[in-house]
Amino acid sequence: MAQIPGTGADVRIPGDNRRVSELFPSPEPPAVATTLAVYASVVPEVPVPGIFSYRVPEPLRERCRPGVRVEVPFGKGRTVRGFVLEVGTACPVDEKKVRDLANVLGEVVVAEDVLALARWAATYYRASLGDVLAAAIPQEATKQRARPAPQDEWLAPTTRDDPTRPAPRLGPVARRLLEALAAGPRPLAQALEAAGANRAQAKRLVEAGLATLEVREAGPLPPAPLPAFDLPTLTPDQELVLRQLLKQLEPGQEPGTSLASPPATTLLFGVTGSGKTEVYLRMIARVIELGLGAIVLVPEIALTPQTTARFRARFGDRVAVLHSQLGNAARRREWRRIQTGEAPVVVGPRSAVWAPVPKLGLVVVDEEHETTYKQESAPRYHARDLAVVRGKLAKAPVLLGTATPSLESWHNAITGRYRLARLRSRPAGASLPTIHVVDMGREWAEVKGAPLLSRVLVRELEATLGRGERAILFQNRRGFTTFLECPRCRTVLKCRQCDVTLTFHRALGAPGGATICHFCDERGPPPGGPCQACDGPPLKQRGAGTERIEDVMRERFPTARVGRLDTDVVREQEPAEAVLTRFREGALDVLVGTQMIAKGLDIPEVTLVGVVAADTGLAHPDVRSAERAFQLVAQVAGRAGRGSRPGTTIVQTFLPDHIAIAAAATHDFERFARVELEHRRQLDYPPFRRLLKLLVRGPQEVKVRDEAARVVDALRAANLEGVSAVLGPAPSPRAYLAGKFRWQALLKATAEGVRRAIALVEAAPPRGVEWHVDVDPYHLL
Ligand code: ADP
Ligand code: ZN
Repeated sequence: MAQIPGTGADVRIPGDNRRVSELFPSPEPPAVATTLAVYASVVPEVPVPGIFSYRVPEPLRERCRPGVRVEVPFGKGRTVRGFVLEVGTACPVDEKKVRDLANVLGEVVVAEDVLALARWAATYYRASLGDVLAAAIPQEATKQRARPAPQDEWLAPTTRDDPTRPAPRLGPVARRLLEALAAGPRPLAQALEAAGANRAQAKRLVEAGLATLEVREAGPLPPAPLPAFDLPTLTPDQELVLRQLLKQLEPGQEPGTSLASPPATTLLFGVTGSGKTEVYLRMIARVIELGLGAIVLVPEIALTPQTTARFRARFGDRVAVLHSQLGNAARRREWRRIQTGEAPVVVGPRSAVWAPVPKLGLVVVDEEHETTYKQESAPRYHARDLAVVRGKLAKAPVLLGTATPSLESWHNAITGRYRLARLRSRPAGASLPTIHVVDMGREWAEVKGAPLLSRVLVRELEATLGRGERAILFQNRRGFTTFLECPRCRTVLKCRQCDVTLTFHRALGAPGGATICHFCDERGPPPGGPCQACDGPPLKQRGAGTERIEDVMRERFPTARVGRLDTDVVREQEPAEAVLTRFREGALDVLVGTQMIAKGLDIPEVTLVGVVAADTGLAHPDVRSAERAFQLVAQVAGRAGRGSRPGTTIVQTFLPDHIAIAAAATHDFERFARVELEHRRQLDYPPFRRLLKLLVRGPQEVKVRDEAARVVDALRAANLEGVSAVLGPAPSPRAYLAGKFRWQALLKATAEGVRRAIALVEAAPPRGVEWHVDVDPYHLL
C-alpha cells in the first residue's frame, strides 16, 4: 500500500504558525508522464488510506485522466468507486500484482486545487483521501448521462435589412422576447424565461422573420444580464471596510509594492444587522467583473432563505445554490453550471467548500462562529478552516463574517494572523436593541408559582402586541417538558438504549403525546404510571420546552396569533421556510422557537425578543459552553429592532452575573473575549492548545473500556513532547448510544503534539472495537 503523497501545496494551518509540510512531512508524489494512461494510480472511496495502481484497458485510455471518477476491483470480488490521481506509462509497482481498471465514470470532476484541498484535509483530519473525496464530490456529479449531451437551441435576433420599412406590429410578448435578445443570441430556454414566453410564441417570432432558431453544441452558457438593482448608499463603516477589502482583489497585488494588499483572511466583525451581507455582495460583484468566482458558505440553507434570496436578487442566475435537499438532477445541473463557469457564485452549506469553481477569487464564510461548519461524521472536517486553506491555495481572499466571532478567529485576528475589519453600527436609523436582564431567582422569590414568563416580559409582550408589532420567544429546547422525574427517589426517565434523558412531547406521537429520546428518536407512551425505580408516585414533568412556551403564550394572550418553529414542526408539519414566511408576512404575531430562529432573521416589524432561559447551555461540561451562551443571547437579541422602530430584548436567567450573559447584555464581545480567553489560556484550551478526541465504541463494555485504557496508558507513558494533558479514558457523556458503549479520551496538545499522538495511536490502535480520532473536536459530548 502506497503512502498518501504530500499535500499539493504548502499552506499554513488555520490558527497555527507552521506550514503543513513542517507538521506532516511526506514524500513528494512520484513524477510520472501524463501523456498516455497505461497505468493509473487510484484512490478508492474507502475508509482505508492508500493509493493503488491499476492497468488501464486500451478502450478506456483516452478518457482516463487525473481527476476522473472510476470503478476498480478492490479486495476479493468487490468493485468500488475511486478517483484517478495520476496516469503514466511506467508501472510503479510489481506488474504482476496490478489489476485492470473496470470503468471510467464521466468526465474530470476533481480540479487540481480541490484535490490539493482534499489532500490537506485527509492529512490534517486523519481521514482517508478516498473518504474525503467521496464527501467532496457528490455521486451525481459523475453519473453518466443516458444519452449524449443535448444540443442547445439558441434564439438569435435578425437584423432587418431595410430599416426604413415600417416595423411589424408586435404583441407585448414578442416585444419582451426581442428585448431579451437585445444583447445578442441567447439559449432559447433562457430567453423564454426572461421574457415569460413559451415556445410557440418564439416560433411566431421566427416566422415573422424577426429571429432565427439555431442549434449549437451545448457548452457553457453565457451568463444572463444582471438584474437591475438599486444599490444602497454604503455607510461610512462599510465604505472603509470595502476600500481595504477590494484592494485584495486587484490583480497583481504583490507584497512590497506601495498599494500592496495581498489576499489574506479577514475577520469581518460587525454587530448584528450592520450590513455585512452588503459587503459580501459588493466584493462578489467585483469578483464577477474580474471574471472570477466566489464561494459563500452559510450555516444552513433552510434557515437562511433570505440570505440566499439576496444573492439571487443581486446576481440572478449567476448564483448556484447547493443544499442537501436538492434532487439528483438538480444537483447535477448546479454542479455543471459551477464547473463551466456559468454560475460563478456558489452559495451553500459546509460541503460547498468543495465546489468546483474554476477560477476562485473569493471565499466568504457567513456566521463563521456556527458549529454546523464542523462535520460530525468522517471525514470530520471544519469547513471554516478548510475555507481558509482553500483561499490560500487559490491565492484568493477569505472573508469570515460574524457578529459574535469564535474565540479561535478572534484570537487569530488580534494576534495578526487574520486581518480585522469592523462594522460598529447598523445602517441609517436602526439601533441595537436595549437588553434587559431579569434575574429569575429573584422573580420566583417574589412571585408565587414559578412562572415561566417574568412580569417584565409579560408587560413588554402586551405593549408590543398592543402596538401591532411582532415578538420572538426563544427557548433552546423542543418538546413540552424536558425531563420527567420521580418526586420521591429523584430518578429521571432515560432512554433504554442511549442513557439520554427522555423529553415529553405533547404534540407528537399518539394523542396524549409521547416520551422521545432526542438521540435515537425511540418513542414511548406519555408519562402517567408510577416511578419504575421505587414504584412510587407518578413522575413529575419538569423543564419547559418550546411546546410548553407556546401553550403558556396562548393562555396568556388568547387573541395573539402564536406560531412555533423547531425540528418537530419541520419534521412533522411544515418546512421552516413556510413558518418564517407566515411570520414575515404578518400572519403570526409571536414566533416561539429554538435556535432555528436565532439565525439570520431580518424582519423589521420584530421589536421584542424574549430569551426564556439564557442559561440552558451554561451547565454543559464543555469548553465552549460559555462561548455558545454568549453567541446565542447576542444573536437572538440581534433579531430585534432591525427596522426603524427600536427593539427590546428581555433575557431571563438564573445566572445574571455570568460573564457570558452580562457581556451579551451590554453588546460587549471584547469584554467577554478577554475574560474567556484568559480562562482558556489557564486551562490549556483552544485557541492556545489543540484538542484531540479519541473515541472507542463497541457492544461489550469491558472490551471498550480495556482497549481505551490500554491506548491511553500508552499515550501517557510515552510522555510525548507537545502533549500537555491526557484526560480519561472515561465513559463518553453519552456512554451508551444505539446499542454501543462509548469511552473517550481527550488530549490537549500543540499541533505537533497532536500529530505525534495520532502516530502513536495508529501504530498500536485499539483492537476488536471501533475507534476514531477527532482533530479539533467541537462536541465533547
Ligand atoms: P448583517 O449581514 O450584518 O446582519 P445585513 O447585510 O443583513 O446585515 O443588513 C441589515 C439590513 O440593513 C438589511 O435589511 C440590509 O438590506 C440593510 N442595509 C445594509 N447595508 C445598508 C446600507 N448601506 N444602507 C441601508 N440599508 C442597508
Ligand atoms: Zn435513545
